[in-house]
Amino acid sequence: MKASQLFYPTLREVPSEAEIVSHQLLLRAGFIRKTTAGVYTYLPLAQRVLKKITDIVREEMNRAGGQEIMMPIIQPRELWEKSGRWSLYGEEMFKLNDRHQREFALGPTHEELITTLVDSDVHSYKGLPLLLYQIQNKYRDEIRPRFGLMRGREFIMKDLYSFDIDYEGLDESYQKMHHAYQRIYERLELDYRVVQADSGAIGGNESHEFMVLAETGESEIVYCSLCDYAANVEKAVCLAEENPPARKEYKSLTKVHTPGQKTIKDIVGFLDIPEQQQIKTLMYMKDDELIAAIVRGDRDLNEIKLKNLIGGNQLFMADEATVKSICGAGFGSLGPVGMKVKIYIDLEVAQMRNFACGANEDDYHYTNVNIGRDFAPFAVVDIRNAVEGDRCPCCEGSLKTIRGIEVGHIFKLGTRYSEALEATFLDSHGQEKPLVMGCYGIGISRTMAAAVEQNSDENGILWPLPIAPFQVIIVPVNIKNQEQKDLAESIYNELTAKGIEVLLDDRDERAGVKFKDADLIGIPLRITIGPKSLQENKIEMKKRWEKENTLVDISAVTKTVLDIVLE
Ligand code: ATP
Ligand code: MG
Repeated sequence: MKASQLFYPTLREVPSEAEIVSHQLLLRAGFIRKTTAGVYTYLPLAQRVLKKITDIVREEMNRAGGQEIMMPIIQPRELWEKSGRWSLYGEEMFKLNDRHQREFALGPTHEELITTLVDSDVHSYKGLPLLLYQIQNKYRDEIRPRFGLMRGREFIMKDLYSFDIDYEGLDESYQKMHHAYQRIYERLELDYRVVQADSGAIGGNESHEFMVLAETGESEIVYCSLCDYAANVEKAVCLAEENPPARKEYKSLTKVHTPGQKTIKDIVGFLDIPEQQQIKTLMYMKDDELIAAIVRGDRDLNEIKLKNLIGGNQLFMADEATVKSICGAGFGSLGPVGMKVKIYIDLEVAQMRNFACGANEDDYHYTNVNIGRDFAPFAVVDIRNAVEGDRCPCCEGSLKTIRGIEVGHIFKLGTRYSEALEATFLDSHGQEKPLVMGCYGIGISRTMAAAVEQNSDENGILWPLPIAPFQVIIVPVNIKNQEQKDLAESIYNELTAKGIEVLLDDRDERAGVKFKDADLIGIPLRITIGPKSLQENKIEMKKRWEKENTLVDISAVTKTVLDIVLE
């Protein structure tokens, strides 16, 4: 490809709306353009990268026994009613009507559609297991589309669904996918980690996320310093302290006037009680029921753990008016003593003695509160976020934290969808059984952004070779010099004939401009042709990730490039 023909409108300025590096660079280097919030056009360079990512994903899905199909984006409401997700999916679903006012969704995911499909065409265990996948746009009206391709409202996903006769079969399909995903991220040359994950609203029991490590990632991961335990903070198990502090004498419960003191920090200052000696009382609505959830003053409540533990359809923070009418005080003066709702306390809180909390009377707190004597929890549960330094749930090690970008997610669904949609098959005894399912997603467009997030410097992108839009860029210092131009073209032809993807920067620009653009768009290998090349029969070769050039004999260029690319 000749640069003079390529549509890659680069920008000099960093676009102001872009907060993270991948978003900035993909815009600046002319890979993507925004149409509306969370909706992007992929320009030629991006399209080339996406193709490489999808080729790798497709090869590994096929290797693992997957078969590619393509399902419709438009899905009828009835299917979603059957699974119970038309309302459950909520505001994130894009909905539309046809001319007869029939309702449809733009597919945010395809469990309903594929389960129905397989049910109508697979009747016996003989047709199983079956692994079907597609690579397609998904539509989700995200509450906060942001970071460019990271959290789009239209984005590209590979989604595979497995259908098995039983749970052993599912385990096998799940293992195959787990393995295929590892191969994919290794081939993409991204630094990643597999973590235990929460299976969320999709339902099911086991799930792992594939995280590309990056400071700006939206997910917080904990991992053990000794063993291979790693989990999304949403999911990470917190243990009770092994050696809780010795049982101190119960001191007498005291009510203290605390005018205007509402937060944990206020009380630290006002009563000189450290955060660890206070508790945080958070009020939630579990559907129509008000409940209290309590963690230590310096901890964060984990809503996902809480929801998984207590069940119910919806869990959301209660509003202050409701809380005040039932508990007698507004936010900032709440506590478990005398509170007439179900109280869930964190494991760690169960080991505290003589702590402080609100008194359910505005501007009053209690000190020296003790569980058992002063209030009775409904349940003692693990509901806090794990933090750096926590004990590993699997070994003696302690946990560390890092951030990552979730690029893949695999779930064991079991019979969650097949039962709701009555998708069954006849087993070898002629008995009707529900299909046992798994689902496996990869964010293709998010993976492209994650690759940039992880691989850039102050000059631009550093594409890993397997997904670079071009492997080599040839820069003749002066394109008006006929000999330079001829040499550039002959090397271009030779490399292209060997299957190397080459961009020839044939634009009539200063060499400095061309070097800057080559760095910005992140082509891994740069070949520079200048006057020296003609005098000494050598070209300068520079790897994007190294500082120095090397001189290569013109006769050895093709071999040198092939060695690097095939390595
Ligand atoms: P998240 O927690 O980031 O919202 P999710 O759990 O909703 O992700 P899945 O439904 O498991 O995501 O989708 C599979 C994959 O699709 C994700 O691992 C991610 O890589 C990608 N993905 C999900 N939502 C988006 C989005 N809004 N924009 C781009 N990619 C996305
Ligand atoms: Mg989501």
